[in-house]
Amino acid sequence: MHEYKDVLNHDVSLCQPVAVGFQIKAQFGASHLNFSSSEFLATLFNVQFVSRYTSTMNSTITATDAVSYLLKGFGRLFYIVNPKSTSPGTLQEVPDYIAEAVPFFVMTIVMEFLTLLFSNKGESLKKKRTWYANRFSINDAVGSIGAGMLQQLSQFFIYNLTLASYLYVYNNFRLVDLDPKNIYVWITGFLIVDLGYYTFHRGAHEINLFWATHVVHHSSEYYNQTTALRQSIFQSYCSWIFDLPAALFLPPSLFATHKQFNTLFQYWIHTEMIGNLGPLEYVINTPSAHRVHHGRNPYCIDKNYAGTLIIWDILFGTFDLERVPPAVKAGSSDVEPVAYGLTHPINTFDPFTIQFHHLRHVLTTCWATSGFSNKLKVLFYGPGWHEGTPRTGLLEEIPLIAKDVPPEKHDPTVPKAVNIYVVSHFALLIVINSILLDMKHVLEFKYASIASAFVFWTLTSFGWIFDHKKFAVEREFLRTMIVSVVLSWAKLNNLTSDVANYLIAFHVASGLWLLATQRNYTHIKGKKD
Ligand SMILES: [Zn+2]
Ligand SMILES: [Zn+2]
Repeated sequence: MHEYKDVLNHDVSLCQPVAVGFQIKAQFGASHLNFSSSEFLATLFNVQFVSRYTSTMNSTITATDAVSYLLKGFGRLFYIVNPKSTSPGTLQEVPDYIAEAVPFFVMTIVMEFLTLLFSNKGESLKKKRTWYANRFSINDAVGSIGAGMLQQLSQFFIYNLTLASYLYVYNNFRLVDLDPKNIYVWITGFLIVDLGYYTFHRGAHEINLFWATHVVHHSSEYYNQTTALRQSIFQSYCSWIFDLPAALFLPPSLFATHKQFNTLFQYWIHTEMIGNLGPLEYVINTPSAHRVHHGRNPYCIDKNYAGTLIIWDILFGTFDLERVPPAVKAGSSDVEPVAYGLTHPINTFDPFTIQFHHLRHVLTTCWATSGFSNKLKVLFYGPGWHEGTPRTGLLEEIPLIAKDVPPEKHDPTVPKAVNIYVVSHFALLIVINSILLDMKHVLEFKYASIASAFVFWTLTSFGWIFDHKKFAVEREFLRTMIVSVVLSWAKLNNLTSDVANYLIAFHVASGLWLLATQRNYTHIKGKKD
């Protein structure tokens, strides 16, 4: 039987929930190549990179290739895969399905945005406090995609505890040797990984310390494709333990495969575009079922934990249908649209707060609580628990949602031009982020750190602009100038190609424009915060 050893160099760390440990990965595997500073900058900005991608694009692609690429890519988002071609014999053969799905994330985000834009003459995008308007907002989308970027970058620094613990149990305690190529083993893998996700997800909502990480995913007040990408950096520290039962018999290669498909399946369900799916509502996790999961109406709390199959919720008593037609008769007083987000909204787009606000709250509450057993209860009972309530708190303490008008969303007004400014810089950041992830096996630790810090700094700057933080514009101007200076230095030292010239011009021009014209935007009329 194959012993799985060289595992931590293998990339399944994108599996969500990605399991990682508290150890900082101080260095990459010895076998990794290290980039020098000049090679790093050169790769980041030079023609080699561009030519590498254009050469792929220039190779002959037939219509059949394109159709099969699209079918395969979209199929994976729905777990429509061929078991035969997704049964790798070894862990090293498992593809990075999540990285391969990124173009499909982009396509569906654009498709959903355009549908919202053109449906009811753009009513769905209008910032009105009615149930079916205001379904997409730039500030929220940048916050959500930004959280996903940080979660992906975190794999540079954190130890893949999920895989390490899985392999430890599999190598030392497995009960049987199963053939990963066997179809029945593949199906068993699908079921056990999905059940593992259900148990983890339920734990993530019912154990306060775990909720402190998973809360990130629930912190958006919107429900669209970008919400799916709003992920916690540290969630995998909590999830690894729930995957260990599978390690007693399921080959690691199949675990790594199903873990990724289980994650991918949970992407498409984040949308308000798809209604009730009839009988399917009782078999698979659907947009409607997961809308309930994201709701903060009392009836939505602690419901529908499923990953792929909703049958786990039906079996374990955590299932509920969305209270809108056709599940509830139109006009009935039981109709109750879902209000998304947290019962105590965070009201910010700052990435650090998005990631850590509840962890800070849990730790300070634990510190302030008297008695050792009560301290433990703060950590391991539900987020709604306090002295005198049952383990998961009291549903009566969850604020009711008015049915006629949804709660107001945190959405401080920002001029259109500022939105365009942020979106254009954000698009550039997405490109930089994907290049960094592309280089993850060869990038030296110090460069990964500097680049990740830059991404985090940039996202923070955007969050502050959206939050109307004091001096947000000045701080963003400073960022553009520092980027320009670093790029100019690199250019003078022949470390970059001509791409750098365009980037310098872009940063200088847009930074100066922002400072010159937008310093007072936080005081514009109609500001809601
Ligand atoms: Zn959840
Ligand atoms: Zn979700």
